[in-house]
Amino acid sequence: MSTTITTPVPAIISIRGLTKAYGTFTVLHGIDLDIAEGEVVCVIGPSGSGKSTLIRCINHLEPFSADSTITVDGIRVAPGKALAKVRAEVGMVFQSFNLFPHMTVLKNVMLAPMRVRGTVKADAERKARDLLARVGIGEQAEKFPAQLSGGQQQRVAIARALAMEPRVLLFDEPTSSLDPEMVGEVLDVMRKLAGTGVTMIIVTHEMGFARQVADRVIFMDSGRLVEAGTPEQIFDSPRQERTRSFLRAVL
Ligand code: ADP
Ligand code: MG
Repeated sequence: MSTTITTPVPAIISIRGLTKAYGTFTVLHGIDLDIAEGEVVCVIGPSGSGKSTLIRCINHLEPFSADSTITVDGIRVAPGKALAKVRAEVGMVFQSFNLFPHMTVLKNVMLAPMRVRGTVKADAERKARDLLARVGIGEQAEKFPAQLSGGQQQRVAIARALAMEPRVLLFDEPTSSLDPEMVGEVLDVMRKLAGTGVTMIIVTHEMGFARQVADRVIFMDSGRLVEAGTPEQIFDSPRQERTRSFLRAVL
C-alpha cells in the first residue's frame, strides 16, 4: 500500500512515481510526494526503508528509473546541463560530514560559491565568516576539519551548505555519527534554520526533534511512504499498524 502525498500550495519539490532499483532489488516503489516551499519535513522509518535513497534521488546523487519524475523549483532532475542548476539550489548535509580534509574550515565554506557561483574571494570569505559565526564556530575558521569535534565539523558542513544560499536543504541523519553530548548543538543550529524559510527535508532518528520542528513527518517502510501527517498525528495517533510498531520500538 502506498500513499500519495501532495500539498495545497505550489510545491518546490515534486516527486511522481519515483522508482529506484539496485539490480533486481526495488528500493523505492513509485513514491509520490510534494514538498511546499519553506516546509520542514522529517522522514522517519526503519533502517533500510529507503530514506537515504529517497533524498539522494532529489539531487540525483542516485540515478532513478526513467519513467519517474522529480522537479525542483520547476527544473526536471535528470542527467545533463540542468542538473548543475538543481544542485546549486539543493544543499546536502551527510551523516559523515564529508568536509575536505586538506582545506581549512574557512576554505571548505568558501569553495562552492567561488567555483559554482563565481563569487569573488573577498565576498566568499566575508560570507563564510558570517556563516561560521551563525553556526557558533567563528573562532575555528583557520583550523582543519580533523582538529574539530564531530559536532563542530557537522556545523561547518551546515555552513558550507548554506554558503550556496540553497532553496532546499537535505539532511541525512546529521547527528547519527555524533557523540551524544554533541547532538544538541547540531540540532540547535538546525532548529534555528527551520525558522528561516529554507525548505528542509531531514532524515532523522531524533523523534523529539522531529516533533518540535517538523511541519510534516513522513514514515517510510520498505520503500514506500506509509503515512504522513503533523507531528501530533504521527506520534500521538498513528493510523497505520506499521507506524505504531516502529514508534513503539523507538520511543
Ligand atoms: P535507509 O536510509 O532508510 O536506511 P537506504 O536508502 O540506505 O535506507 O537503503 C534502502 C535499501 O537499499 C536497503 O535495503 C539497502 O541495503 C539498499 N541499498 C542502498 N544502497 C545500495 C547500493 N549501493 N547497492 C545495493 N543496495 C543498496
Ligand atoms: Mg540512510
